[in-house]
Amino acid sequence: MAPYLLGARRYPSKKAARDEFRRILNSNPDNVPLRGEDAELVSLLVHAGRHPEAAEKVGPGVVDVVIRRSEFGTRGFWLVRRDGSIVDFSYLTALDGQSSVEAEARAALRWEVNDQILAFRDVHAADLAGGTVTCGLCQQLMTPDNVHVDHHEPTFDELASRFAEVLGGWDRLVIEWVGATGRRLQNRDHGDVWQTYHRQTAQLRLTHRRCNLSRART
Ligand SMILES: [Zn+2]
Repeated sequence: MAPYLLGARRYPSKKAARDEFRRILNSNPDNVPLRGEDAELVSLLVHAGRHPEAAEKVGPGVVDVVIRRSEFGTRGFWLVRRDGSIVDFSYLTALDGQSSVEAEARAALRWEVNDQILAFRDVHAADLAGGTVTCGLCQQLMTPDNVHVDHHEPTFDELASRFAEVLGGWDRLVIEWVGATGRRLQNRDHGDVWQTYHRQTAQLRLTHRRCNLSRART
């Protein structure tokens, strides 16, 4: 059986990884934030797993993971975000997604600019609280909850692709882990160049999370 890698953690098989998350789900009560190693493992799955919508699910950052029942009665993990919003997170989807050099590198590039994204949000925090900010997509007024920092043209994926192209392809971006869940470019000169390029080129704007998600689906 092929080993299964989750971040810096190694399982003997994908089934072993699946069993571990099922155990966490079955051995913790509903609606109580996970703590200790169980919390760390789910956090690792969220940040280092293969969920295709992980970045959207994480949003402004995850502060807690709780177990809840869905409308269909099945129990699952839910992420409580920094802004108080909550979203379901399928561990099966996160385990089954495709892992690739490109996906890993894109995640690292995203991690490299997290500070810029959070800083942009913080700059607008007072205006958001005052109710004077409009969504970049639907143009309606926004409240501080349910806010997403969006890359207007060019998109984040376009910026990342351009950067990879300049370096000579995704294979050239070697990734290293930072703590349990962070990842960045191993070559810190490249990391600095990317951060500067992103700071100078990205056109950030605030949108409703739901507006951004519905755009991503179309
Ligand atoms: Zn909107």
